Amino acid sequence: TPDVRPLVAGNWKMNGTRASLDQIKAIAEGVRPPLADKVEALICPPATLLYVATALCTDSPLSIGAQDCHQKASGAHTGDISAEMIADSFGTYVIVGHSERRTDHAETDHLVRAKAEAAFAAGLTAIICIGETADERRAGQALDIIKRQLSASVPDGATAENTVIAYEPIWAIGTGVTPTSGDVEKAHAFMRAEMAARFGDQGRKMRLLYGGSVKPANAGELMGIANVDGALIGGASLKAADFLAIYRAYE
Ligand code: PEP
Repeated sequence: TPDVRPLVAGNWKMNGTRASLDQIKAIAEGVRPPLADKVEALICPPATLLYVATALCTDSPLSIGAQDCHQKASGAHTGDISAEMIADSFGTYVIVGHSERRTDHAETDHLVRAKAEAAFAAGLTAIICIGETADERRAGQALDIIKRQLSASVPDGATAENTVIAYEPIWAIGTGVTPTSGDVEKAHAFMRAEMAARFGDQGRKMRLLYGGSVKPANAGELMGIANVDGALIGGASLKAADFLAIYRAYE
């Protein structure tokens, strides 16, 4: 997309201990100009590593974010972390509405929208995840699901600055299976049209990531599709060499 700085983002999920900080260090060293001026890189480690990870990145353009936040800023919510806490740990992004959160914690579009609003209030950029199931795709409902999730999960206050959309077909996450380039192109063109209709110029510049089994071997093709402004990467983001190989698909 013209005038858009792509984002290559890693989601470590519930993986990573202090030993994994070596991978963060290696990624931080590998993300540098001139490519870093053109393409942004982000790692979202588990919350236990967030503060240490940001401390390791003070001299690197690598951004650090979290994988979820509570919809409230503070209070009696045992076990949860707020967007304020992420910002206080120098995180700049938070993933909201990942399909694993929607499934494991019964998160609804309504809740995801509230979490994105909490992220905005804390000055974070929200990566709002959407995507259809295998059954929905088979039934020919993929675009209907995308439309509903976009309209219900994305807050009215979304801008190209505070919001990134990640299209992650659920059947492509962690499976090694990806949609055809044609299907990704169709989904992303549809999302672009929806966001432009609702947010005008901000929607035209909003980054639309593809996620689901992105690997070094398929990154070039997927990142080259129109309206794909980067990737959200699970498994392949755990190893610095794989993550950097995907990042360098933009070289
Ligand atoms: C994800 O969970 O966001 C994801 C895309 O996972 P994977 O790359 O492992 O399919």
